[in-house]
Amino acid sequence: MSDEAATVLGIDIGGTKMAAAIVSADGEILAKDRILTPAGDADQVFAALGELIARVQGDVAGGDHPAAVGIGSAGPLDQEHGLVSPVNIIGWRNFPLVDRVRALVGDVPVTLGVDGHCFALGEYWTGAGRTVDTLLGIVVSTGVGAGLVVDGKPMLGQSGNAAHLGHVVVDLDGEPCACGSYGCVETYASGPRMVARAKRRGWRPDEDVDAAVLAADAAAGDEIALAIFDDGAQALAAGIVATAVTVDLTTVVIGGGVAKAGPVLFDPVQRWVKRLAQLPFVTDLTVEPAQLDNAGLIGAARLGWDALRTDNSFTAVGTRSG
Ligand SMILES: [Zn+2]
Repeated sequence: MSDEAATVLGIDIGGTKMAAAIVSADGEILAKDRILTPAGDADQVFAALGELIARVQGDVAGGDHPAAVGIGSAGPLDQEHGLVSPVNIIGWRNFPLVDRVRALVGDVPVTLGVDGHCFALGEYWTGAGRTVDTLLGIVVSTGVGAGLVVDGKPMLGQSGNAAHLGHVVVDLDGEPCACGSYGCVETYASGPRMVARAKRRGWRPDEDVDAAVLAADAAAGDEIALAIFDDGAQALAAGIVATAVTVDLTTVVIGGGVAKAGPVLFDPVQRWVKRLAQLPFVTDLTVEPAQLDNAGLIGAARLGWDALRTDNSFTAVGTRSG
């Protein structure tokens, strides 16, 4: 054995970017790097990931023999068999990511989780949720992902897909959703759906613009943009309150590209949450911005650390009691 402190390799797989980091037992990132997710077949995509992993491992003494690996991936995934089929990585369909990563790093525990769960776990560990035991984390981006930490543990569900808040139905007469249902939170609150709804109301109809432009226009007082953000916020609030009254929680953290809009999103979300959360145990529901730039990566590493600890003594780096 070497004298180096044990580390865990965290990996975050998204349709746009892939990131890897070496993370210490207290959640400190010792090395990290990221790449744009390449196009290509299954082996080409994995080769790029392998190079990324080798690079971060080379940046830290002992980084090439992590005690465990945690992987957060865009879904859907098959946690039991370690397979991933990220919607936006078309080369990977039922790709055996866990086995392939283990072949690279050696025979150590490799844990796979949905990216939304890793986001929630990362914010719980070292971010906005570090003083609480139970939280809902939401990522508002090209979709609406989420994850739950309950009593200090990620609540993954039977198939590993719990907390699909983006597909809570909030409008019984709503528009079709990519999932096959209709009126889901995501049909109102994802970046692309907000832009599409704004365009249908006459906002910048012929321009190639995204949710960041919509947010800037809302901040500048554009009435259509403001109305669209208010609708998105109302849908998010409905999903948040539905989850809060189901799980019994009071802390919600929101991150992701659309959350960078800041008060344009958070002000109406907080207003709608206050309106909708009426049962006594959720009237203190708070919604705050994520504190970490890379919560998904930190949370993935935490999955790895959790796999090494079975005595339930591993609590977050914050000031929570116990
Ligand atoms: Zn849906």
